[in-house]
Amino acid sequence: MRQPFVAGNWKMNGSRDDAGRLLEDLVQGLTPAAREVVVCPPYVYLADAARILKGSEIALGAQNVSEEESGAFTGEVAASMLQDFDCRYVIVGHSERRGLFGESNEIVARKFMAAARQGLRPILCVGETLEQREQDVTEQVIREQLDAVLEAAGVHAFVEAVVAYEPVWAIGTGQTASPEQAQAVHAMIRARVAEVDDTIAGKLRIVYGGSVKASNADELFAMPDIDGGLIGGASLDADSFLSICESAI
Ligand code: 13P
Repeated sequence: MRQPFVAGNWKMNGSRDDAGRLLEDLVQGLTPAAREVVVCPPYVYLADAARILKGSEIALGAQNVSEEESGAFTGEVAASMLQDFDCRYVIVGHSERRGLFGESNEIVARKFMAAARQGLRPILCVGETLEQREQDVTEQVIREQLDAVLEAAGVHAFVEAVVAYEPVWAIGTGQTASPEQAQAVHAMIRARVAEVDDTIAGKLRIVYGGSVKASNADELFAMPDIDGGLIGGASLDADSFLSICESAI
């Protein structure tokens, strides 16, 4: 009942030529299926990407967005500008933004709302660090990350959103969460949203991110509350990403 969702977060990788080649390969290689596939290239390649993806099965997303609508915010990019380039999705609250660029739960909530106001669909990332998992505060941390957005934006804003559970210790480390570990957190996220609105929670797509590869996607996506993935490193290789997409049906 929930349409599977796979997004590639390219982060700050590749050249313009690499991006063009990768997109062409994805457009040619993706077999049509009842799933949603999204790529999130760096900002500066969005215009090229929009042109190459036009009319394809692959939607475009951005990796970040300003919480402001316009004005004197040097270096920032507004949600309306992303829409100009046919972006349908935008990642907010990635752990690299939270950890390296000081984005608090409140800033993430404002970015989520700025995206939603423009009709962009937020991919809201949540996840605990290794230290937090070892201290047994995973549930509390994720609840706080979710609640900041639920309280600021309201549960109805989650109708168009996707939540990505990305344990920080699994990102780029090769150490994937086990399907059972991920499922437990996904179920907790869905239960938290269901406390506010059961129907919205039932339809909400919750995807897993953190060292997803072609070799482990099947077992992760088979779990009842894992509706797809947010893929970093493996999304930079067309064959790997396409294989992961095939697992999401
Ligand atoms: P990796 O797939 O490289 O671990 O990255 C996950 C991620 O951060 C996607 O947003």
